[in-house]
Amino acid sequence: MKKHNFFAGPSILPQYTLDRTIEGIRDFSGSGLSVLEISHRSKEFIACMNDTIALCKELLEIPSGYQVIFLGGGASLQFAMIPMNLMDTKSAYLVTGEWATKAFKEAKIYGEAVEVASSKDKNFSYIPKNYSIPSDASYFHITTNNTIYGTELKKDPDVQIPLIADMSSDIFSRPVDVSKYSLIYAGAQKNLAPAGVTLVIIREDILGKVNRTIPTILDYRTHIKAESMFNTPPVFAVFAAQQTLKWLKELGGVEAIQKKNMEKAGMLYDEIDRNRLFVPTVKDVEDRSFMNVCFVMAEDYRELEQPFSDFAKSKGMVGIAGHRSVGGFRASTYNALPAESVAALIEVMKEFEKTI
Ligand SMILES: *Cc1c(COP(=O)(O)O)cnc(C)c1O
Repeated sequence: MKKHNFFAGPSILPQYTLDRTIEGIRDFSGSGLSVLEISHRSKEFIACMNDTIALCKELLEIPSGYQVIFLGGGASLQFAMIPMNLMDTKSAYLVTGEWATKAFKEAKIYGEAVEVASSKDKNFSYIPKNYSIPSDASYFHITTNNTIYGTELKKDPDVQIPLIADMSSDIFSRPVDVSKYSLIYAGAQKNLAPAGVTLVIIREDILGKVNRTIPTILDYRTHIKAESMFNTPPVFAVFAAQQTLKWLKELGGVEAIQKKNMEKAGMLYDEIDRNRLFVPTVKDVEDRSFMNVCFVMAEDYRELEQPFSDFAKSKGMVGIAGHRSVGGFRASTYNALPAESVAALIEVMKEFEKTI
């Protein structure tokens, strides 16, 4: 039976990426060696790294003055590297979910981290709107897509201090005005590549302003200077990212994929709103994520959660269980998820409704 992969991360990759990486495992770029055994200093891999960076710059229209680097340690390492490298004595955080909370926690180690607003009062089911940002903070940190809770901040905010964003789960899903950000980071395993690499886009002039000793490997300047080769980079994950970016470019880039993403998520939200068995966890349409669609059983049908889960599984739906802190269901509709998979899930929801 065909499986429909709704996992939140690591998650579905384009067939193009899978085919090209299988090819690369057999023979990387005509080198006669596998991408799994090639030196990161080989001319073939250096070309791959440079092309991956060039594709990022092209697809996101990254202006000059920014550097693109690839690091290990996941998005979680960035939670610590950001305050270590950029926070003088004060920073500001918008706390919109579990990842944002973890990022905020690391900043507290380095001084006064201010929570400007939080949506914890309603289990992170909305994006706080009216808040004021302290003008003397070194930066303001946001999480654009809250993977666990299914909320998304889709408009690049205008702020007066350097803006930093965790875009792990919506990078490359829509156009972004990079010039509004001082730093953007994203673990690759949602929309880009298998786990193992993190993309960091950084405005160079925000560096070198703090007065603390930073371990060499945790200093952004080290990785910029070494062109992401200070230590051995995750060669395979970078190669896979290159394939996904080529696929995205062929498809028409971030504007084209945004259109598809809005259609996919829109179809699913429409069904959740229509189907009497389900309710969305995010009520405000404006805050609903185009990447992670979260829903629960309606009040009167709570006991049907397991039966629906079993039914969906029997029809090939994989990875639709909600995160343990939300319960219910979460269908991740990342770039690589075909519209047919969303249509298949909707069909399952309709069929199940008829049996009740
Ligand atoms: C998945 C995710 C993370 C964690 O990424 P790791 O690479 O596991 O550290 C952080 N932030 C967001 C928004 C995520 O979706």
